[in-house]
Amino acid sequence: MAEMTQEEIDVLQYVRRFAGEEIRPLAKKIDEEKTVPQSLINRMKELGLFASYIPKEYGGYGMSFQFLMHAIEEISMACPSTSLVLDGALTLFAEPVLMFGSEELKKKYLGMVAEGTIGGLALTEPGAGSDAAAIKTTAVKNGNNYVINGTKIFISNGRLAKFYVVDVVTEPGRGHRGISTFVVDADTHGLRISRDIEKLGIKGSSTVELVFDDVEVPETNIVGKLNEGFRVVMETLDAGRIGIACQALGIAKAAFREAVEYVQQRKQFNQALSNFEAIQFMIADMETSISAATLLTYDAARRWDEHLPCVKESSMAKLFASDTAMKVTTDALQLFGGYGYTTDLDAERHMRDAKITQIYEGTNQIQRLIISREVLKELSIM
Ligand SMILES: Cc1cc2nc3c(=O)[nH]c(=O)nc-3n(C[C@H](O)[C@H](O)[C@H](O)COP(=O)(O)OP(=O)(O)OC[C@H]3O[C@@H](n4cnc5c(N)ncnc54)[C@H](O)[C@@H]3O)c2cc1C
Repeated sequence: MAEMTQEEIDVLQYVRRFAGEEIRPLAKKIDEEKTVPQSLINRMKELGLFASYIPKEYGGYGMSFQFLMHAIEEISMACPSTSLVLDGALTLFAEPVLMFGSEELKKKYLGMVAEGTIGGLALTEPGAGSDAAAIKTTAVKNGNNYVINGTKIFISNGRLAKFYVVDVVTEPGRGHRGISTFVVDADTHGLRISRDIEKLGIKGSSTVELVFDDVEVPETNIVGKLNEGFRVVMETLDAGRIGIACQALGIAKAAFREAVEYVQQRKQFNQALSNFEAIQFMIADMETSISAATLLTYDAARRWDEHLPCVKESSMAKLFASDTAMKVTTDALQLFGGYGYTTDLDAERHMRDAKITQIYEGTNQIQRLIISREVLKELSIM
């Protein structure tokens, strides 16, 4: 069974300290100013966090996926907008290049990611969200290049990314069998950010709409094979969902700890709130859900490291951890009473931040479809 190495466990202590001492104090400001300061991203670079998961032959430290997931959780406890910068660069951009990219693409892009150059994934379109195979952005062959036209929406790391993994239709009319995945540099002529998208939570994360207007990319930028890009993005999301589960865990744990601390201090009816059985039962339920979500999530991360089938496991982790984050942050706010509803405390921000984890990288309705499809396959009587 693949476990984290002692070195990885030791490095995680630094990540925990970094998140608690340097990120957490900035979380409120990041939310208010709707941006993660470059100085914080630079610190993540200095600490080698972008290099952590990149294999040594491409300039990284070759650490495990489990290490990366624990690091995402630690950073999410402090600020989930900040963790998404790292998570997006590694699970959404680097992972597909690593899994399916040519040697040339790996050499060119993974080294840059290891140095802290940020990437993103552009799949979703105004007309194609849950039904990702319905994308309309096209790439038409022109000599040794492809010309991309279309619009992508809700792209995380939007303004920070120097390159994106982009899904396009290369053979119209063939549904998911006509989709290819390309790497596209953000500064390619014809590619522009048409707007920033304002959000309920993770406000520090840059979310944009991208317009492709005759964007020419070399054929060699195809990740994997022509017309086999849907598989690339689906497998990418298997890893990505574990990252979102870790983000959800971090948010839930932060909200929970703050609330538990508070109920021990706050007195009503001449005693601490934590003396009341109704409050104790809430604490018990929150802790139980968090523990169950943690087990599911760490198991999925371990399976990813071991290259074991992980479709169902990553969906279950994402589904359960995000539902837990939403429930726990809502209950945590409740435990603060009226103070929880104010922006003086972090409880309302945790609740706003938690909501996205039930939506992106496949909504939780879609996770349920994936899980049941896998179960029906496994238990098929044929
Ligand atoms: C902040 C943010 C960041 C994001 N980052 C990225 C990114 O970096 N890259 C990227 O490509 N995308 C990104 N997304 C897009 C995200 O993955 C999609 O929003 C999500 O997959 C849902 O698609 P949709 O918004 O089009 O909703 P829809 O697909 O229109 O769904 C609307 C509702 O219908 C439900 N529904 C749809 N189909 C079914 C069904 N068959 N059965 C039951 N219920 C169904 C959904 O669960 C949902 O509740 C991001 C979104 C947000 C909000």
